[in-house]
Amino acid sequence: MKPFTYDQLPSRIVFAPGALSQVGDEVQRLGAERVMVVHDAMTRGSADAVAAQLGGRLALRWDEVAQHVPVELADRARAAASQHAIDAIVTIGGGSSTGLAKALALSHRVPVLAVPTTYAGSEQTTIYGLTGGQHKQTGKDPIVLPRVVVYDPELTLGLPPSVTGPSAFNALAHAVEALWAPGCNPVTSALALEGVRAIAGSLPRAMANGTDVDARGDLLYGAALSGMALGSTAAGLHHKICHVLGGRFNLVHADAHSVILPHALAFNAPVLPDEMARLADALGVRGEEPAGALWDLAVASSVPTRLADLKGSEGPLRRDQLAGAADAAAPEISVNPRPVTRDDVLGILERAFDGTRPSV
Ligand code: NAD
Repeated sequence: MKPFTYDQLPSRIVFAPGALSQVGDEVQRLGAERVMVVHDAMTRGSADAVAAQLGGRLALRWDEVAQHVPVELADRARAAASQHAIDAIVTIGGGSSTGLAKALALSHRVPVLAVPTTYAGSEQTTIYGLTGGQHKQTGKDPIVLPRVVVYDPELTLGLPPSVTGPSAFNALAHAVEALWAPGCNPVTSALALEGVRAIAGSLPRAMANGTDVDARGDLLYGAALSGMALGSTAAGLHHKICHVLGGRFNLVHADAHSVILPHALAFNAPVLPDEMARLADALGVRGEEPAGALWDLAVASSVPTRLADLKGSEGPLRRDQLAGAADAAAPEISVNPRPVTRDDVLGILERAFDGTRPSV
């Protein structure tokens, strides 16, 4: 038995089809009286339902959100929050909505209740991110961890396949890296492996039929566990590369995760034989290489597998942009099971750009 320490993050989970109807009661439990509801265009209907539950407790609705939380957007939302003297935030949506709620919690020191509608997992972490210019700054603060998370698989039935697949890969990336990231321990590994098992078992079913509520529930459960695993460990090589790609080129966050994951995994696999064996087991491919198996799952789920296919704010990513991204990412990778140089990062990016099946 290996000795370990584990900081369990304090958060309440309500998980059920139809659980959206419990948000009002949960807000009352928090004792909040002036609630700011954050949502995006796709979750407006759910926000309407929550607003009706809140009645006089609703202080403000905010529907402008953006990936990676641009600082100017956070500043405007923060000014509105101050003007309305909010004492809690309810966020309904994906990682972008949760991210804005976290930025608000950071400045206003108020509790967050999160209703996640993608598989981003941000609702289970103390990590916040803000982007100014081309640089995404991340940090950790316990105040941004949602005090309550209401998971309602019914809210995800309308997620299009183009969001479902990459978002599930975002969750897989959290679980996979948590197996060796700084802070990993037997508890985080148990969460991560169960997360991988749940996602690998349900993603093909959810992609085949988006309204399969059981598959959606399993996927959301897997994403929640993967988020917890990330929340108690630290971002590693894969995440650092994705953050640089997101901040520099404004790529769709989840798409970048699905493309990079098999290649970042293939780089570390040779020095992690035990973790690879357990991961292969959880993926249901015992004896195979997980990097190749994840690439196969991505192809089978019609998830992006080539950086060359991803578009940023300046159009499709170009091969000549990879060197600059490697320069930016390499210094951010302080801990990795295998020594990693700037040229190693460039190699991962180049293989991801071509998107061929990784071999270890
Ligand atoms: P997102 O929130 O932008 O959602 C992706 C798309 O799905 C959007 O177009 C959104 O409108 C749509 N959508 C959301 N819910 C829907 C629904 N119920 N039905 C139909 N469409 C719906 O993106 P995301 O991938 O969920 O999150 C990405 C962001 O989260 C990034 O900024 C990333 O950095 C952050 N993130 C943070 C953490 C953390 O721990 N801090 C972890 C993971 C991701």
